[in-house]
Amino acid sequence: MTHPIRGLHHVTATVAEAQHDLDFCERVLGLRLVKRTVNFDNHSVYHFYYGTAAGEPGTLWTTFPYHGWGVPSGVHGAGQVVATAFSVSPGALDAWRERFDAAGVAVEEGAPRFGERPLVVRDPSGLRLELVADARDTRAPWIGGEVGRGVAIRGLHAVTLMLRSRAPTAELMTGLLGFEVVHEEPGRTRLAVGGDLPGHLVDLVDAPEAQPARNGLGTVHHVAFAVDGADEQLLLRKELLRAGRQVTEVRDRTYFQSVYFREPGGVLFELATMLPGFTVDESPAELGQALMLPPWEEEHRATIEATLPPMTTHRGH
Ligand code: ZN
Repeated sequence: MTHPIRGLHHVTATVAEAQHDLDFCERVLGLRLVKRTVNFDNHSVYHFYYGTAAGEPGTLWTTFPYHGWGVPSGVHGAGQVVATAFSVSPGALDAWRERFDAAGVAVEEGAPRFGERPLVVRDPSGLRLELVADARDTRAPWIGGEVGRGVAIRGLHAVTLMLRSRAPTAELMTGLLGFEVVHEEPGRTRLAVGGDLPGHLVDLVDAPEAQPARNGLGTVHHVAFAVDGADEQLLLRKELLRAGRQVTEVRDRTYFQSVYFREPGGVLFELATMLPGFTVDESPAELGQALMLPPWEEEHRATIEATLPPMTTHRGH
């Protein structure tokens, strides 16, 4: 039977300045800003969605730029997504190293794992991002930005969860959530859902002595997995409740419907529907150009626009 979880949907991070985030994601990483909206839980803060083309689930990196709100820097530690890897073509890593050098972004080679040698950089807020070359990735990259087709990011590759103990998290993920163990090496387990492919992978890393993570600037807030539809989401929600997890009600995120819960290791998980997607309120060509608000925030538009920091996007069409 096919499990209703298809793979990764998006990864969301708390970052510092909006313009620095935009400059890095658009100009350095070459991602497309596919939606410029506000945090639905705090309409005075942006929510930027970056991805490829129409922002397909599995390609999305999203940020809340909280600079100016007195939010302290977060703590990297156990119970957190500590690395987000993006997928590129084999042979593209040399070009990426040059690109990061030219942009003044420090780059290093990460420890090898499962035959991969990730390139590691920090975003302007200190988030650990990785690039992994994977020949199996057939997803089309976004090439409307500054990075050429052979080099551009094709979407998310994997996220790494740091945990005091992998076992309870692995049990939930390989049980109710439908993941399979696809690779194991000392200290690290790779799980996949919806196929052993880039955009479907979650690595669990044991760190028994790690300090507890704390969300703040420069940390991942949550990781979302894509579910087929609303019915499957409700069914999974019911099963999670039965298994003793505290799960939120379904929340309308305009571009998908979401429920949230913490896995046993403390990482915040979201289950997000595949539809309706980012073209529900903008045409594919116009994605990311205008500030889009959910219907219930439109009456506050003037106040919201006056409060949000000004920003300049870079991409041409
Ligand atoms: Zn989310």
